[in-house]
Amino acid sequence: MLHLEQLSLNIPETTKPRVVIIGGGFGAVNLTKYLPDDQFQVVMLSKQHYYGFWPLLYQVATAGLEPESIAEPIRKLFDDRNDFHFRFVRVTSINPATKTVTTLIGDVSYDYLVIATGTKSNYFGNEQIKHNSFGLKNLTDAVNLRSQLLQSFEQANISKDPELRQSLLNIVIAGAGPTGVELAGSLAEMRQHVLPRDYPGLDFRLMNIYLVDGLDRVLPPMSPESSKNTHQYLEKLGVNIKLNKLVSSYDGETVTFKDGEQIKTQTLVWAAGVAGATVEGLPAETIERGRYLVNQFNQVLGFEDIFAIGDIALMKNEKWPKGHPQVAQPALQQGRLLGKNLVRRMRGQTWEPFDYFDKGSLAIVGRARAVADLPGNKSLKGFIAWIAWLFVHIYYLIGFRSKLIVMTNWLYRLFTYQRGTRIIIQPYVQPGDKVGEEFARQQTVD
Ligand SMILES: Cc1cc2nc3c(=O)[nH]c(=O)nc-3n(C[C@H](O)[C@H](O)[C@H](O)COP(=O)(O)OP(=O)(O)OC[C@H]3O[C@@H](n4cnc5c(N)ncnc54)[C@H](O)[C@@H]3O)c2cc1C
Repeated sequence: MLHLEQLSLNIPETTKPRVVIIGGGFGAVNLTKYLPDDQFQVVMLSKQHYYGFWPLLYQVATAGLEPESIAEPIRKLFDDRNDFHFRFVRVTSINPATKTVTTLIGDVSYDYLVIATGTKSNYFGNEQIKHNSFGLKNLTDAVNLRSQLLQSFEQANISKDPELRQSLLNIVIAGAGPTGVELAGSLAEMRQHVLPRDYPGLDFRLMNIYLVDGLDRVLPPMSPESSKNTHQYLEKLGVNIKLNKLVSSYDGETVTFKDGEQIKTQTLVWAAGVAGATVEGLPAETIERGRYLVNQFNQVLGFEDIFAIGDIALMKNEKWPKGHPQVAQPALQQGRLLGKNLVRRMRGQTWEPFDYFDKGSLAIVGRARAVADLPGNKSLKGFIAWIAWLFVHIYYLIGFRSKLIVMTNWLYRLFTYQRGTRIIIQPYVQPGDKVGEEFARQQTVD
């Protein structure tokens, strides 16, 4: 048994400038790559000890990929460095007056502080939805959702009560952005090719996949043309799309919409919005719409030595009056530029301002069904967009091991239509679910 007093951050003293980075995601990892080991001491503090490739998270949740195939331990990414110090802790506050950050096990001082904390799910203050729904923001979420889906099929297969069976076979996804769309498409393909063979006694025509959004189109961040194509693809796959529809409550059994409609379901997936994962300690005026206001060098408003990058940063300019989209590219590009600028400062050179290079966006709905918005207002769809999606995702996956495992899984799926990871490793028990508790207990009773 450990006691907190027995632990400390244990960061070695240094004569080099110390860069403390909060977070271990896209922005943080790319920044670290551009900070030379012999010029800076880098201290990375993250509440997750792995670097996850979130665009493929929905495939973990739908049993298409192993969780480990889309993640790498942060320590492994920088194991060739001598002055890189990773600590698996959450930062609880920033103290600009003392130039320190605070964690559960102590403080560490910084010369430069970089906030790269990304976002968290936004439940718009609805604690009931937060408590009862499934998020999809990290590997734990994806594995929980995978367990929940597989358990629901198992329970539907043995249910005597048609109403209960139907609620187990109803999946509601709130939020028709890329995560919701990709999840819905993947579930629809699973319903078509995988589940009827696994459960010959269950009629999967009864399985409903609802994709709901408060806005009037699917994939709102993409072009209207890509939205239209995606809508058609989803309809062909039998996804039930409900637009202009807001979820007002979910008690774990019934989703109630603002217009009064109700759907009985055991699974509500919440992909309806994100909020910045801000950390306590900076003045309120540095935060706008949950993101830190930064200048063109990513310096937080009013601070020379505190930076914010990626999803958590709000850099407004003429081209991007509402800030950059909260996607991977701004985080990667800001991380790289900040690393280069800190090196420039060491050399007494002037800094370069950030200029976002928009490479376009992609979303996949299923086999040979994808959409792409390219720079110059061009859109692609179908097979060609699907191939582009496959290549881009393999290219950006970090590490040879991940690329190999993901490609192998995709090839296997291409020829067999199978999902190899339909495995309940950790049973998911919803709070208060007595039957779930008993089933989970039965698995480990001896
Ligand atoms: C399911 C899903 C699918 C996505 N699909 C796409 C896609 O297809 N294309 C695309 O471009 N983008 C996609 N995104 C968005 C993309 O992943 C983000 O824009 C990107 O990760 C932002 O990078 P970041 O470095 O700002 O934050 P993140 O990568 O989210 O990293 C944040 C880090 O901060 C850590 N952290 C947070 N708070 C604290 C704290 N208080 N103390 C310590 N550590 C903390 C977290 O553990 C994490 O390591 C997707 C995101 C999700 C969740």
